[in-house]
Amino acid sequence: MPYRGLHEESVSNRLLKARVAKVLFLVPFLLLLAIFFRYQVLHTTEYSLHSEENRLRRIELPPPRGLITDRNGMVLAENIPSYSIELYPQPIDSMRIALERLAVLLDLDPGEQEQLVQKYRLRTQSPLRVATDIDEKTLAVVEEHRSEFPGIFIRSDMKRSYVYGEKLAHILGYVGEINENELEDERYKDYIMGSLIGRSGIEAQYESLLHGERGVKFVEVDAHGRELGPFRDKPPILPIIGEDIQLTIDLRLQEEMHRIMEPVEIGATVAMDPNNGEILAIVSKPDFNPNRLSSGISGAEFRELLFHPNKPFLNRVIQGLYPPGSTFKVFTALVGADLDFIKPDGKSLEITCRGGLQFGKRFFGCWKAGGHGKIEYKQAIVQSCDTFFYQLGIKIGLERFCQYGKESQFFEKTGIDLPNEESGLVPDEIWYNRNYGRGNWGPGNMLNLAIGQGEISLSPLQLANLYAAICNAGKRFRPHLLKEKVKNYRLSDIDFAPEHIAMLREPLTGVVNSPLGTARGSRLWGHERKMAGKTGTSQNPHGEDHGLFVGFYPADVPEIVVSAVVEHGLHGSAVARYVRDLILAYIEIKVSREQSELAKISSTNTVAGN
Ligand SMILES: [Zn+2]
Repeated sequence: MPYRGLHEESVSNRLLKARVAKVLFLVPFLLLLAIFFRYQVLHTTEYSLHSEENRLRRIELPPPRGLITDRNGMVLAENIPSYSIELYPQPIDSMRIALERLAVLLDLDPGEQEQLVQKYRLRTQSPLRVATDIDEKTLAVVEEHRSEFPGIFIRSDMKRSYVYGEKLAHILGYVGEINENELEDERYKDYIMGSLIGRSGIEAQYESLLHGERGVKFVEVDAHGRELGPFRDKPPILPIIGEDIQLTIDLRLQEEMHRIMEPVEIGATVAMDPNNGEILAIVSKPDFNPNRLSSGISGAEFRELLFHPNKPFLNRVIQGLYPPGSTFKVFTALVGADLDFIKPDGKSLEITCRGGLQFGKRFFGCWKAGGHGKIEYKQAIVQSCDTFFYQLGIKIGLERFCQYGKESQFFEKTGIDLPNEESGLVPDEIWYNRNYGRGNWGPGNMLNLAIGQGEISLSPLQLANLYAAICNAGKRFRPHLLKEKVKNYRLSDIDFAPEHIAMLREPLTGVVNSPLGTARGSRLWGHERKMAGKTGTSQNPHGEDHGLFVGFYPADVPEIVVSAVVEHGLHGSAVARYVRDLILAYIEIKVSREQSELAKISSTNTVAGN
């Protein structure tokens, strides 16, 4: 019986029940208080000035983003006007009604409307952006019917425009609207819902410079939320424009590189000045149109790009890792020279290539099955004889070779000013044991490493960086894209003797210019200066091999280094033609610039003479 039961309860039990009841009563009360606080207190803090009869409205003024130009001041990324429609904060039910009415004009289906309502639920104190980057026709219609939509606001913004579209996609990156998580981040405390933020490339790397500072203005509104005009007593705070950025990129060369790489489905090229580390051009294929991304791409379109098997968002110049193949033989040669196996006269190591080398139970083939016959250091590079480098590799030994690789720093991130650069890989004993298991690897692995195959990998930029140091008698610079006159990008020199580095010049010139060279088809005919370089084939366990070439020009005093990789089914000699075409474009651009400089000087002289 309940009555009896009550009497049987202990005192402490009753006290507990009373407490629970109190809590149960308190919960809805606290909730109400919280809601009240949110709507009244917070709301009025945010809109403190328009709390008095809703007469004043605060309008955020986003700062125009800094421009991005190339090394000659050509504008690569700018801001163009764009209109969006927002609804001012109002109770969720009236927001729903306002959206339903707007839906007809803006062609929003019920699903999209509901998505917007859900988005609004998260931030009921911020205006809700209903449509971004609307066309002129829609703008005119909305403008005409404006008085019928209380709380509607047509915002005129600047949107980012990438003048050369996909041609610089992997350099500039793109911008997008800041998301909920980022808004919580201390770094972005000046940002509001709808603020643009760099999502990749230079836009992300230099976000803090490019962004600027938000301003604010105040307008008077009537009881229906319609704007009446600026509020005189409260002058606007103008936004501070973001800083302009000048890049080391040469737009004309960049456009040529993009044109030359047009037939390539998957691949990457980078051109840099070995004398200071300035990046002149970068193309990674496939690419994407950053204008689509910065003006409100649809979720479906974005996912298609994101999950595309060819990964268009991947910047293969800094994120694609490839076994460098024979382009890495220069490194093996440098180690061999450092250990005195190769003397500067080149004659100290001479082998006979009979098409490969039997090592233990395995036969390691030379690419030339018939063999190169008697061959020494220089011709081993010119003709890319694998057998020579197998033998040199055995002399060097696995442990020592990997040690040299690690200490060279060529496998580390170069420190280029782009986000998400990958490090290369040079294995060691620990790596082999962890990945293959003890006893499952041995000196045989060294033979592959000596010809740039097997477990080592580098990005096209890291490879360009290695050749830049070779061009420069061992001087190294940090590759970079921001053109700064003051900053010094010089790094410590590489650990190889200048006379050993110098030994590479002649055979690398021979690769392109001598009758037996592997890239002889890419010789610059009719040109005074020569291109030098090295071909390579990168073994690909998942399909056809990748072709590589690293070239530099002029061979005697290099001004430009170009590293290129083309995925699937191309030999290095075919890739050398892309590099040759780029070098030819480089020469042409240089000559035409010199001629226009001369024309300028002679015309000034004529004027002066008159
Ligand atoms: Zn050979």
